[in-house]
Amino acid sequence: MSKNCDMIKDLLPLYADDVCSDESRKAVEEHIKECAECKGELEKLRRSVTVSPKNDGEVLKRIKRRLRIEKLVVGLISVLAICGALIIGLVYLINSDTSMDMEKYDILNNVSVTEHDNAVWLNIKGSAVGFFRVHPTISDTDGKHLLYDEDFDRNKKNGYGVTLMQRKIDSFAIARHGSPFGVEQKLFDLDEKDAMMKVFYYDDENNKEYVLWERDKND
Ligand SMILES: [Zn+2]
Repeated sequence: MSKNCDMIKDLLPLYADDVCSDESRKAVEEHIKECAECKGELEKLRRSVTVSPKNDGEVLKRIKRRLRIEKLVVGLISVLAICGALIIGLVYLINSDTSMDMEKYDILNNVSVTEHDNAVWLNIKGSAVGFFRVHPTISDTDGKHLLYDEDFDRNKKNGYGVTLMQRKIDSFAIARHGSPFGVEQKLFDLDEKDAMMKVFYYDDENNKEYVLWERDKND
């Protein structure tokens, strides 16, 4: 390879793109008549120049396709995330408890506790009927909840109480106009070992306690 070849090879890209001076072009043309290597080099350059537009098209298409797929994946993930959040919200509403809405269910007029057959019974009528998750929960004198509080004291026998709860989701349900049929649910036997002392409705929002039944202290 002559020193000339080095110089020509530097000019070849400019020559291929037709941006070199007349003088340089002449020098290149003269040289490649006699030098097969530089001629080959030029042909290689020209080939890559002519095929590049086609390549660019392919590359562009591939990029576009990838962008479309990415958009689709992002969209799918968003939809799944929204569905997941909705399901979690719904499950939360169905499974979590809250104290019954005092006014909506007219608690003081529709819920009562009676004593018969050596047991204590919860009687629900009117708009409170039909919400089957209405259930009693047990608390001690400190208000610790049997199900939710770790430090619930089982030995505080004198302080057991019952609170009426409902599902959170029922708060959104339209209260019925009332049912002529009452529902009676046994809360506990009077001679149960861990005897309940009190049944009350606890109004969470106003932090008020309404005693529905209290054990006769002489029992
Ligand atoms: Zn050469």
